[in-house]
Amino acid sequence: MRLSRYFLPVMRDTPAEAQIVSHRLMLRAGMIRQQAAGIYVWLPLGLRVLKKIEQVVREEQNRAGAVEILMPTIQSADLWRESGRYEAYGAEMLRIQDRHERAMLFGPTAEEVVTDVFRAFVKSYRDLPLNLYNIQWKFRDEVRPRFGVMRGREFLMKDAYSFDLDEAGARAAYNRMFVAYLNTFARLGLKAIPMRADTGPIGGDLSHEFIILAETGESQVFCDRDLVDMAAPGDVDFYGDLQPIVDARTTLYAATDDMHDAAEFEKRVPESRRLSARGIEVGHIFYFGEKYSKPMKANVMGPDGQEKPVHMGSYGIGVSRLVGGVIEASHDEAGIIWPESIAPFDIAVVNLKAGDANADAAAEQAYAALTKAGRDPLLDDTDARPGTKFSTMDLIGAPYQLIIGPKGLEKGVVEIKTRKTGAREELSLEAALNRLSAA
Ligand code: ATP
Ligand code: MG
Repeated sequence: MRLSRYFLPVMRDTPAEAQIVSHRLMLRAGMIRQQAAGIYVWLPLGLRVLKKIEQVVREEQNRAGAVEILMPTIQSADLWRESGRYEAYGAEMLRIQDRHERAMLFGPTAEEVVTDVFRAFVKSYRDLPLNLYNIQWKFRDEVRPRFGVMRGREFLMKDAYSFDLDEAGARAAYNRMFVAYLNTFARLGLKAIPMRADTGPIGGDLSHEFIILAETGESQVFCDRDLVDMAAPGDVDFYGDLQPIVDARTTLYAATDDMHDAAEFEKRVPESRRLSARGIEVGHIFYFGEKYSKPMKANVMGPDGQEKPVHMGSYGIGVSRLVGGVIEASHDEAGIIWPESIAPFDIAVVNLKAGDANADAAAEQAYAALTKAGRDPLLDDTDARPGTKFSTMDLIGAPYQLIIGPKGLEKGVVEIKTRKTGAREELSLEAALNRLSAA
């Protein structure tokens, strides 16, 4: 992408309405614009990151055996009456009436819709296990939308739903998502802590939240440091026994302030391993058995010829919240520091003096070579001052900057700056391109 032809409305000043760093940086970097309280336009830079996070989430869901579908944002109230949740859900549900005065709603979650899909097509245990997921916009009329995309009213969620014949099958499905979540957050460069949780309006009896550590998190987290240090499972057999991987984590202490009993904590975790930090919920998984399948008559025939309600679980990830969450976990004074896996651009190519024949030629050569190597560079070919260029590139946080100027070229060198460490290195253009093409 050439900056001269792009749409990157960066802001120099710190927006007064933003209370936390990710919100400030997302506004300053021209990633989002608020349209109404808790409702955002995703500008090109923000959209790139959102799509990349979405893709990581998708790949890890697929790897764990989940199958993607796309459910509508607008749902029929009748389905929610079947499950009994239409009245129960309360003011967070945005209720809509169509021209025929039929009651509709903007989905805050999709247990009812997916259960309706299931009961239409699946009748036998032979079709199980099944996990259907989608990545779709949700609406919850939050009392206090705040912190930008972290607590929006409209937000992008990955929600998966598992179907199994019995509780044992459902627990295996739960474990697959549990492990997929560990891998997903690790790929996003995040330390995510699984924490036993209340089931809330989704209902059910087994539930974990996944919390990432960041200073501005909404909850106080107490946990065993080993939980944070443990590596993600990586390549595992998702249909093998995942219980040991889950147990290794769920047996370690973790709680948020509302469930934490200080004395109990003290007892269970040795002092050297006690960690207290702020956290952000980025995912939440539930096993709730027959809660929806029973009232909605989603039955399957077992091997014994008996029909019974299918056992279900649901598994959410806040995809749009993660954009803010990653920034909370990875930034400095100058701006965002994207992990390579989800950076909007891999490399920022900075032409310090657009219009200078040598600098233009070298910058164009670099842009073409990196593009050909399959990298995704952003070329600053504008005539802004070098200082402005540097601060913009630091702000938007590409992992590497390739800095090209007439003075360096006279000496036969360009510069690579690593955004995360600030380390700078002078080398020939050719060596720089070799390095960055392979990175
Ligand atoms: P919270 O406790 O933060 O209100 P929740 O428990 O109501 O979230 P879930 O129903 O578990 O949310 O939704 C799954 C995931 O969707 C959450 O883990 C979170 O990452 C994300 N999410 C929920 N509400 C919002 C929101 N208002 N804005 C952005 N993301 C959200
Ligand atoms: Mg939750």
